Amino acid sequence: MSDYFHYLDNQLHAEQVPLADIAAQFGTPCYVYSRAALTDGFRQFSNALQGREHLICYAVKANSNLAVLNVFARLGAGFDIVSGGELQRVRAAGGDAGKVVFSGVGKSIAEMRLALEAGILCFNVESAAELERLNEVAGSMGKVAPISLRVNPDVDAKTHPYISTGLKQNKFGVAYGEAVALYRKAQALPHLRITGVDCHIGSQLTETSPFIAAVEKVLVLVDMLAREGIRLEHIDLGGGLGIRYNDETPPAIADYVAALLGALGGRGEKLVLEPGRVLVGNAGALLTRVEYLKPGEEKNFAIVDAAMNDLMRPALYDAYHKILPVELEPSGGTTSHSTKPASGQVAGYPQPSPACGGGSEREIQSLIYEVVGPICETGDFIGHARELAIAPQSLLAVLSAGAYGMSMSSNYNTRPRAAEVMVDGGTAHLVRERETVAQLYAGEKPVL
Ligand SMILES: *Cc1c(COP(=O)(O)O)cnc(C)c1O
Repeated sequence: MSDYFHYLDNQLHAEQVPLADIAAQFGTPCYVYSRAALTDGFRQFSNALQGREHLICYAVKANSNLAVLNVFARLGAGFDIVSGGELQRVRAAGGDAGKVVFSGVGKSIAEMRLALEAGILCFNVESAAELERLNEVAGSMGKVAPISLRVNPDVDAKTHPYISTGLKQNKFGVAYGEAVALYRKAQALPHLRITGVDCHIGSQLTETSPFIAAVEKVLVLVDMLAREGIRLEHIDLGGGLGIRYNDETPPAIADYVAALLGALGGRGEKLVLEPGRVLVGNAGALLTRVEYLKPGEEKNFAIVDAAMNDLMRPALYDAYHKILPVELEPSGGTTSHSTKPASGQVAGYPQPSPACGGGSEREIQSLIYEVVGPICETGDFIGHARELAIAPQSLLAVLSAGAYGMSMSSNYNTRPRAAEVMVDGGTAHLVRERETVAQLYAGEKPVL
């Protein structure tokens, strides 16, 4: 648990605001972000990079809420975008287009035009065909496009296959062995200007060694280019630093940056980084309410009001998120607290332990639950086999949900997307209203 989500008097808080108050005011499911946590993460990067020319380009796709982008923009961040839409978000949030790098394998002509018009810092080009298209688009606008090539260093990020991007068989980047030839080609194209090199090997990396291996390969390339007279202004080492969801032990931001700087040696090029998850992941939680408890013969289900459309990571990557009760000692009141499952003890699971605190006759029994959403898919789960002392209406916080949570959410099952709240000290600000069903079908119409 990050320091910004903590228990105070048995109540889980974001900074100084009880999550139960946020649920009461804004409803559930609801994403809650801590502004202080966002700021703290960014400052850890900038402190570690002090004294070296650098730009921290927050990877927008991790969490693209305008309030989140605005926090980083005010701290001087640049942005790593992967679509024209993300560029529009950055600008709407007060971000500086001149600090934007544009990644992605499929940039459309319209997206290129938008980015050239805005005057972004750099296109991270991922193929020979993209070089040619970008040259044509820039030429047609009377502009010169700043570019770097995203090279694929062919290192194993040792992460989940779906979020590993730096292997030969991945769709990302240009093959390491072809990079020099492509740089030559770019140099010959009149509407391109070579400014840097880029690599991004994957996400949720919990060791520094793959990053170092990538840096070493990138530096060999930089030297080869220098011998050809191609001098780079910046080296972009991408993002990918992992966070602690459960028992992972990723390096601290300072140690990760120190390792990169060590591998870079005394090089003078400006260093660009593209952190996403590590800046927002543990700065956010998904607040959800128990709708039903459903005892089963093999498993007990806690059916909550958040689902895979709100938080897709468990269904998509079998990802683990800690799930904590918002109240450690739920008080009585209007709801019934009898949670005895019909079948009692569940085979194969540890013995239920008594709820924390206690002595009260309303004490809730702690049981092992499958925490699932209401969506009609067996893959719709938030967590497996979690020991929880809960009753219907209990609030739960799904932790480490700030990255790839809301930004990957969908409207499957015609579920309006969750509200988003940013806590700043003692105040909770609504930063995205809960969607309405009318908004969901506003663009649809029957055939007459
Ligand atoms: C997704 C992505 C990032 C951010 O990755 P994290 O693992 O969230 O840090 C950075 N750069 C590129 C090109 C990306 O696609």
